[in-house]
Amino acid sequence: MSTTSVRPSVSGAPADAPVSAARAAELTSLIRSTTGEVRTTSTPFTGEALAEVPVSSPSDVDDAFDAARAIQPRWASTAVRDRAGMLLRLHDLVLAHQNELMDLIQLESGKTRKHAYDEVLHLALTARYYGRRLRHLAGSRRGVGVFPFLTQITVHHVPKGVVGIISPWNYPLTMALADGLPAIAAGNVVVQKPDSQSPLTALAALELLRKAGVPADVWQMVSGAGSVVGTAIVQQADYICFTGSTATGTGIAKLAAERLIGYSLELGGKNPMIVLPGADVEKAAEGAVGACFSSAGQLCVSIERLYVHDSLYDDFRDAFVRRVRAMSLGASLDWDVDMGSLVSASQLETVTKHVDDAVANGATVLAGGRARPDLGPYFFEPTVLEDVTEAAECFADETFGPLVSLYRFADVDEAVALANAGEYGLNASIFGPVGLARALAPRIKAGTVNVNEGFGATFGSVDAPMGGMRTSGTGRRQGEEGYYRYTETQSVGVQRLLPVAGPAAVPAKPYAAVLTFLLRVLRRTTVRR
Ligand code: NAD
Repeated sequence: MSTTSVRPSVSGAPADAPVSAARAAELTSLIRSTTGEVRTTSTPFTGEALAEVPVSSPSDVDDAFDAARAIQPRWASTAVRDRAGMLLRLHDLVLAHQNELMDLIQLESGKTRKHAYDEVLHLALTARYYGRRLRHLAGSRRGVGVFPFLTQITVHHVPKGVVGIISPWNYPLTMALADGLPAIAAGNVVVQKPDSQSPLTALAALELLRKAGVPADVWQMVSGAGSVVGTAIVQQADYICFTGSTATGTGIAKLAAERLIGYSLELGGKNPMIVLPGADVEKAAEGAVGACFSSAGQLCVSIERLYVHDSLYDDFRDAFVRRVRAMSLGASLDWDVDMGSLVSASQLETVTKHVDDAVANGATVLAGGRARPDLGPYFFEPTVLEDVTEAAECFADETFGPLVSLYRFADVDEAVALANAGEYGLNASIFGPVGLARALAPRIKAGTVNVNEGFGATFGSVDAPMGGMRTSGTGRRQGEEGYYRYTETQSVGVQRLLPVAGPAAVPAKPYAAVLTFLLRVLRRTTVRR
């Protein structure tokens, strides 16, 4: 395994000050906080301090909600064209400022440049999608009234109000902003808590949103512990959009249920890939590298279980392991590295524990398997295991790291059963003949199924709804569903000439007989819709 270790530095900043204190202060001033308390963040590349981040209190969250509720009706009444224009301007600003955004993503998460670029791409695609689609999404539709001509129905989608967004550290740019774009597009306002590990990236994105024309109180950020500040948000929001672990998501769902507010939960996964008979082994091996090790496997849709048909298992294993062993690792802000660092000591601990436990329970390490403190405090090699038994923790539990296990299958029914094992249902991948893969997709319990791709075909296609089945979540981001989750549907019915209950002068019995006659006629009438 080749390695590169480059000391991180942001363009223009000295190597020992990855983000200048002035720039960090400029960004953190966007946080709503009156406590005077700060928390120091550090970069996973070296463990060195990055920024002093103000901590918010529950009363700061109260203030944020007061300001949000004050501005929401005005924001909802801005022209759809103006809101769409702001999203399209954000698209341009994200592309124009991509270098600083990628520096910050990398410094806060430890990922490589190309994985940081995936976030820039996803955010720009999302901004363009909702910017271009907003006129269609925000429009009302005419419905069919109970009495043709006499009853007019119009269906509107009105904003919920204040949306609370709680986001994780693993995709600090796009998980912070992309989910909220359809919320503000629909006329809602946002109070958000980014993860404590990655506030600078979220704040740099917020700065661009404001440059694009979105007023400050329309999207506010608070910061602090999830159990304090996150809970305060859930207690006041009209809708919650949460991305994170299944354990935290379950607690949030309980709180939201007590308040009878809606929520979308994008949670964990233990995602399978199936390599079918007839698959191109080299292409499948190449695809598996990207599917398993993007952002060092700290990606909700990352593949952690690889099921390969008996007929090509040995060839696939050799091609895959050869590629994984050749991957370069390092802390570089350049484009030259294949995999970066894990984000924290606790992530390193989980990955190390899962590998050691699997080996103790009979697994064989085919590639990687070691921490790399010579590269940085939290580096771990991309790791491939074989012979993992059910007793191993990583057999069914999410690792959320660069660890994948290889298994064989004899026929496609067995592959489907293996892919559906366990409690999760977020993402799945199938490599092989397209016809067979398409036929299998509906049998897989996963919110997204990618054919001849790991996750990018669905994740990158922002018109495609994305989310989990089973314990991987509820609700969908992206596409029309990602927009309508933030709206209440309101039907307006206008009655003309006669009341629905009939004219006062006509007794109920003959009126019922007329209605019965009309129902029978209508039942036989062909209605084209
Ligand atoms: P986490 O649940 O610990 O934290 C996520 C966010 O929730 C953070 O901002 C955190 O501060 C906040 N939080 C923590 N406790 C809270 C509470 N009691 N109330 C309110 N907010 C609280 O998750 P994590 O470990 O940071 O992220 C990794 C997990 O996220 C993995 O399981 C991964 O699969 C999942 N994830 C899912 C998706 C998806 O789209 N499905 C995307 C990214 C990550």
